[in-house]
Amino acid sequence: MKASAYKTIFLKETFKLLRGFAFLSILSIALGLICACGLRLETEKDDLRKEKPLILTTFTVLADMAKNVAGDRLTVNSITKFGSEIHGYQPTPSDLVKAAGADLIIENGLGLELWVKKFTAAAGNVPNVVLSKGMEPLLIEGDVYSGKPNPHVWMSPRRAMKYVDRIVEAFSELDPSGSESFERNGLDYKKKLQELDKELRTSLESIPSGQRVLVTCEGAFTYLTHDYGMDEAYLWPVNAESQVTPRRMLKLIQLIKSRGVRTIFCESTVSSKAQLEVARSSGARFGGTFFVDSLSEAGGPAPTLLDLYRHNVDLILKGLVLENPEK
Ligand SMILES: [Zn+2]
Repeated sequence: MKASAYKTIFLKETFKLLRGFAFLSILSIALGLICACGLRLETEKDDLRKEKPLILTTFTVLADMAKNVAGDRLTVNSITKFGSEIHGYQPTPSDLVKAAGADLIIENGLGLELWVKKFTAAAGNVPNVVLSKGMEPLLIEGDVYSGKPNPHVWMSPRRAMKYVDRIVEAFSELDPSGSESFERNGLDYKKKLQELDKELRTSLESIPSGQRVLVTCEGAFTYLTHDYGMDEAYLWPVNAESQVTPRRMLKLIQLIKSRGVRTIFCESTVSSKAQLEVARSSGARFGGTFFVDSLSEAGGPAPTLLDLYRHNVDLILKGLVLENPEK
C-alpha cells in the first residue's frame, strides 16, 4: 500500500474518532440539561408539596376521616386506591417513594395491613400513628384466626370517634399552629358520627329480633353487630384468610337455614361468587354489596365513611326486613 493510502485511512479514522467524541460531548451536554431540568421540576414539585404537609393513610376510609380533620391545612392521600383489597396489598416501588416523602403515615393496626411494616420501613424517619392503638379489640371467634383481634374497628361509628381523637392529636403534634382548627373539625365530625350512631341504632332496632343475623363474606361487621345488637356469620374471618372451603360454606348454609336468614351479603373488595353459591344452596337471597375496607369512588354509593354506614344499613334493612331485596 502506498504512503498516500495509509494517510487517507489515518485521516478517515481520526475523523471518525473526532466525530465520536463530538457526539458523546453533545449527548452528555443534552443529558446534563435533561437531568438539570428534571431536578428543577422535582424541586418545584417538592416545593409545591411542601406548602402543605403530606399525610398518607393506608386505605381510603382512613383518608376520608383524616380529611375531615385536616380541613385545608394538610394534604391527605390514601396509598391503596378505591376498590383495592387492603389486607394483603403489595406496596409498589412508587408507593415506597411516596412513603419517604410523607410527613405522617396513618395506619389502622390490629394486623389489618399485613404490608405496613415494609411500607413504614421504606419511609425511614417519617412518624406514623396507629389509630386502633390502646383500644380494646373484639376477638375473632372460631376458625383459624381464633383469638386474634378483629381489625375492622371503624365499622362502628361509636368506635370511629376514637379514631378521630387520635387523628386530632397526631395532626396537632405535626402542625401545632393548626391545633385549634383540628380540634374544631374533629368535634364537628364526631357530632356527625354521633347523629349517625343514633340513626343506625333506630334503623337496626326496627329489625325483628329473630331476624337480626348479618351474613357476609368477610367477618368485618363484628364491631357493628356487637355494638348494635345483631348476630354475625361469615364465609371467612378476614380477607387475608379468604379461602373458600367446602367446610366453611356448609357451616354457613346450615346456619342460614337454622336461623331462617332471608338475605345474605358480600363486600366490594372481594368476589361474591362463593356467597352467591351459598345463597343458591341455602335458599337465601343475595342482598347486594357492602362497602367495608374501601370507599366507592365519588358518585358511587359510599364515597365517604358516613355514606358507607348509610349504604350498608339501608341494604341490611332492605334485605332483612323488606320483602323484596335486590337479587
Ligand atoms: Zn377487611
